[in-house]
Amino acid sequence: MPKFKLVLVLALSLVVAFGLVGTAFAAPDKGKPVTPGDVKQLTLVFYQGPPSEKGKPADEPEPSYVLIGLKLYETATYYVNPEGSGVDPEAVKAAIGASFEAWDEVTDFELFNDTVGTTDFRGREYDGQNAISWVLIVPPKIVALCTIWYEGELDPDNPARVLEFDICFNMWHEWGIDPDGEGTEYTIDAFDIQNVATHEAGHPVGLDDLEEEQNSEQTMYGSTTEGETKKISLHPDGDIIGAQELYGAPAE
Ligand SMILES: [Zn+2]
Repeated sequence: MPKFKLVLVLALSLVVAFGLVGTAFAAPDKGKPVTPGDVKQLTLVFYQGPPSEKGKPADEPEPSYVLIGLKLYETATYYVNPEGSGVDPEAVKAAIGASFEAWDEVTDFELFNDTVGTTDFRGREYDGQNAISWVLIVPPKIVALCTIWYEGELDPDNPARVLEFDICFNMWHEWGIDPDGEGTEYTIDAFDIQNVATHEAGHPVGLDDLEEEQNSEQTMYGSTTEGETKKISLHPDGDIIGAQELYGAPAE
């Protein structure tokens, strides 16, 4: 009964989508308290934006990062549901694993478990599992989003504790894996999974989106385009020093 199964999957997808439409529109709810008790949530939205070529970077770009005011106090295990990506599941897990590992490599703390788990869960829910999945999100200009549950106050000097995070990639878009990574010879006509995932992973690390044009070369710059791969590597003058402010630099 493959046809029936397809209809069922589509129906379930729509349920997830409508669930997200409501919350996606209510996205800028930084610090909005949710039950139970002291658990709060915030959502950071990653938009599709024009290629960063309007204007030129400032002559002397400032090293830049913005701390959300939260961080990981324990190594986080995360689980991937590749369904809906349109990409080979093992390749998806490898790309996402490399994204999270990029942050581990520059800090003196094991932020993320090296083992990438698998889950059937899709969407966002405070359920004790850090999940990464593909869902329909409206409006389509949202490429991905990250919801973080935390306790404490958002305070860069005394960061709140991340309790859980869920990352959603928007199924409206075409996704892929650029065959030469950050090389320039080939570019794909799709959003590169590792490129977007490296940005999203920066949020539970504790880094906020950057909006200034002069920071457009950084991983934490707040918009992306199809074919972009430059966010795969963390920028030494911004992304990396931001992460090291929170977790220290790895021993030489
Ligand atoms: Zn972001």
